[in-house]
Amino acid sequence: MGNYGLNIWGSNNFVIENGKVCINKGMKPALYDIVEEIRKGDIRGPILLRFPHLIKKQIDTVYNSFRKAKVEFHYNGEFNAVYPLKVNQYPGFVKNLVEIGKPYGYGLEAGSKAELLLAMSYNNDDAPITVNGFKDKEMINIGFIAAEMGHNITLTIEGLNELESIIETAGERFAPKPNIGLRIRLHSSGIGIWAKSGGINSKFGLTSTELIKAVSMLKDAGLLEYFTMIHFHIGSQITDINPLKKALREAGNIYAELRKMGAHNLKAINLGGGLAIEYSQYKNTLNRNYTLAEYANDVVFLLKTIANQKQEPEPDIFIESGRYIAASHAILIAPVLELFSQEYTEGKLFLKEKNPPLVAELLDLYRSMKPGNALEYLHDSIDHMESLLTLFDLGYIDLQDRSNTEVLVNLVIKRAVSMLGDKNLTEIMDIQERVQERYLVNFSLFQSLPDYWGIGQTFPVMPLDRLDETPTRSASLWDITCDSDGEIGFNLNNPLFLHDVDVTERNYFLGFFLVGAYQEVLGMSHNLFTHPTEAVIRIEDKDPKGYVVEGLLESQCIQDILEDMDYDVREIQDNLHERIEKSPLIDDKQRKHILGEIYLFLNDNGYLKTIGKEGE
Ligand code: PLP
Repeated sequence: MGNYGLNIWGSNNFVIENGKVCINKGMKPALYDIVEEIRKGDIRGPILLRFPHLIKKQIDTVYNSFRKAKVEFHYNGEFNAVYPLKVNQYPGFVKNLVEIGKPYGYGLEAGSKAELLLAMSYNNDDAPITVNGFKDKEMINIGFIAAEMGHNITLTIEGLNELESIIETAGERFAPKPNIGLRIRLHSSGIGIWAKSGGINSKFGLTSTELIKAVSMLKDAGLLEYFTMIHFHIGSQITDINPLKKALREAGNIYAELRKMGAHNLKAINLGGGLAIEYSQYKNTLNRNYTLAEYANDVVFLLKTIANQKQEPEPDIFIESGRYIAASHAILIAPVLELFSQEYTEGKLFLKEKNPPLVAELLDLYRSMKPGNALEYLHDSIDHMESLLTLFDLGYIDLQDRSNTEVLVNLVIKRAVSMLGDKNLTEIMDIQERVQERYLVNFSLFQSLPDYWGIGQTFPVMPLDRLDETPTRSASLWDITCDSDGEIGFNLNNPLFLHDVDVTERNYFLGFFLVGAYQEVLGMSHNLFTHPTEAVIRIEDKDPKGYVVEGLLESQCIQDILEDMDYDVREIQDNLHERIEKSPLIDDKQRKHILGEIYLFLNDNGYLKTIGKEGE
């Protein structure tokens, strides 16, 4: 995996040049250099970089794919897209997205009162707003206010009681009214770990019986003209295109039937989200079996076919893709703090004048290894290690012999792996799994990759430099939380190899890619590690470095984190001060010094300061 699967998941967004991952745009700045520059401002800990040009690329690609599909199939309906705010509500992302989407009339989708008010404040003029999820009377009122402000808003109802509230509200408020959408409950559902939103047992949507009832309620209330859209969503990250095709056929027919029942203003089908992205770093574990072009063609072709068969107008198409738009724009970059077996260098060998025979044998294997015998010697050394560990347990060798054993076996492994390269991969993998290196990484898995912890979703990981050197260590990543779940273990189906580095000499950063969708907002403050420092990076040819760092926002300081937990920070400060003042163990000078330190710690962010270079 010389390029860490960049050709699979990278979408040409990155290139490797001079051993570094570079942004494939403009002067191709290296991620390593961007991070080092940010760190010059004394920023430590993990850093989340946002790239607006990657948001633009995704938006352009979606609109272009549907434009092409419409031309190819002579489709008469319109294409519209809205961005579901739930996927990432951070201003560093949303404000850029709205601005980039302006020429397309790209809109926003809201699923809660807070998101709806956000959408009403930032949405592009005339761009659509769609509202999903459960709504109380208050939220429906907010939806009416949006219409009264002039927004092109559709309230999608999830159940008949919501429709009753809408009808009641319509009678109470002013003349402008929101459009009404009905979420349909399909038999079809997606497949994969996020497929629960679709299917007959899903949490959302109206059954056929309820749809008929809804139309008659709207008719009776004189509001049928506002019913303009049906909506479905078969789950996020649709891995297989077939369930979507089935859902489209079902939805297309429901659309035609509802029109025939008199819903003449019904003109749009909203497919929700679900467009998948490729997270895999290996060809044998791909996450999806279709491309965006295929998705767009299928949607347009199927809806056209059904509309034509049923002699109804071709519906306007709405999509609410979030993951596809947001995932690639953000990269989490985290420094490696420590390698747990880094002490296994020749300098750590303390051989005796007379060593146990198996230790002497290990030394010999290490010294005489050549590419031709590397695999055999590797096997022998693992065998010797097991015997030596047994001898230790039985009391026949001492701790010094055991330490020499561990050092020598690790040296043999490193030398063998670098001599063998990609040859004998199966045997090497087997051994690698047994001798993983643990990399302690300055980030919180719970805060920055919650989907890995919660549902086992993997994300592409790679080092930012040394990519012209073969990585020789099978890697397990440990985060800095005090929780053994905060680990990305070495996995034979998705193996990660990293370099043997001395982080006291030079920083070694890992990039976690495609983290722009869901991860930031689902992230939790386990151990009180909060959202990492973030920065927006604008690729700018006119700048001598080829990029500009904007909107640098350091991770919250400890005092603010505690305040967010509803602690009275003044009380905490006073308690600490009082205890320091009262301590009989220190003199006045020391007391003053310690008070100053406490002030600094409370105002610093909670991530660790890397040892070595990082701490300088
Ligand atoms: N629309 C609705 C109704 C959703 O529930 C979701 C998320 O599950 C989305 C859109 C966004 O889905 P995705 O991020 O997979 O595109």
